[in-house]
Amino acid sequence: MIQSHIGVFIGNGYHRGGLMAELLKGSEAANALKHELGYRNSELTAKGVTPCLAIVRVGERPDDLAYEKGVLKYFNALGIGAKVKALPENISQDMFEREFASVNEDESVHGILLFRPLPKTLDEEPVIKLIDSDKDVDCMSPKNFAKVFIGDDTGFAPCTADAVVELLKRYKIPLKGSEVVLAGRSLVVGKPLSMLLLGEDATVTICHSKTENLAEVCSRADILIAAIGVPKMVKKEFIKPGAVVIDVGINVDEEGNMCGDVDFDEVSEAASKITPVPGGVGTVTISVLAMHTLKAAEKAAARK
Ligand code: NDP
Repeated sequence: MIQSHIGVFIGNGYHRGGLMAELLKGSEAANALKHELGYRNSELTAKGVTPCLAIVRVGERPDDLAYEKGVLKYFNALGIGAKVKALPENISQDMFEREFASVNEDESVHGILLFRPLPKTLDEEPVIKLIDSDKDVDCMSPKNFAKVFIGDDTGFAPCTADAVVELLKRYKIPLKGSEVVLAGRSLVVGKPLSMLLLGEDATVTICHSKTENLAEVCSRADILIAAIGVPKMVKKEFIKPGAVVIDVGINVDEEGNMCGDVDFDEVSEAASKITPVPGGVGTVTISVLAMHTLKAAEKAAARK
C-alpha cells in the first residue's frame, strides 16, 4: 500500500474519502506488450535482421535526456538496437540537415526519433520533408499524417496517440459508440488521436483553448482525455460520474513534482478509472516506440 499526501493506493485502486477509482497503470500495458515485442524481435533476429532505432538529439535538455535514458533501458531489455546521434546545441542548420540525412540514409537504421522542439536557431521543416516515411516511427512526415487521417495502418501514428489507444484496449475499455472528449488539438496528440478513436467507432469531440464551457463539454464524456499542458487543470466538475479519465499531460507542479493535466486527487473521487502521472500514458509510449521500430524493421525485411 502506497501512502499519498491525501489518499492511499490499495491494489489497483486509489482510495480517498470512501470513493475509489481503478488505476490504469501504464506498466501493465507495457508488460503485456513486452512479450509480444520480444517474440517479434526474435523472429527478425532469426532472419538476420537487427532492428535499430536512431535517436537524434540536439543539445541536452533534461526532459530529452530522461526520455532517452528510458528508451535505451527498455530497448536494451528487449534486445532491440538503439543508438543516439547527439548534436551540439549550436549546430548550424546546414550541418544539422547533413547529420540528419546521414542517419536517414543509414541502412542499419530502421526507425528515427527526433527530439523536438529543436533549439530556436534550427528549422525543422527541411528534415520533416527529408525523413524517409518508412523510418518515421513517431509520425513527423505529412505522408504518415495522411495515413493516420485516412485510416491506413501501414504508416506510423505519433507514439503517444497510439499509446493512449493501446492503454484503453489493454484495459478493455469499450470505444465503439462511446462519447470521447479530447482536451487538446495538437498535431502530436489531439488531432491524430481523434482520428485513431474515430477508427475505433468512438464519438469524438475535440476541445481547445477557445472552447466555451470547457468543463461542461468535458462532463459529457464517457472517456475524457486531457492533453493540454496545464498542470492539474481538469477538476472534478469536468467529470461525468464514473467516467474513464486518461491524463496525457507531463508537467511539473508548484512543489517541483511531476504531475498531469488532471487534478488527480479530486478527479479520482468522480472517475471510475484513471491513469496516474507518472506511470500512465508515458510508460506505454516507449513500448509503442519499440513496436513501431519493429514494424519498420519488418517492412524493411519484406522489401528485400
Ligand atoms: P501543445 O501545447 O502542443 O497543445 C496543447 C493543446 O491544449 C492545444 O490544442 C491548446 O489549444 C490546448 N489548451 C491549452 N490551454 C488550454 C486551456 N486553458 N483550455 C483548453 N485547451 C487548452 O501540447 P502537446 O499536445 O504537445 O502536449 C500536451 C500535454 O501532453 C503536455 O503536458 C505534454 O507534456 C504532454 N505530452 C505527453 C506525452 C507522453 O508521452 N505522455 C507526449 C507528448 C506530450 P489551442 O490549440 O487552442 O492552443
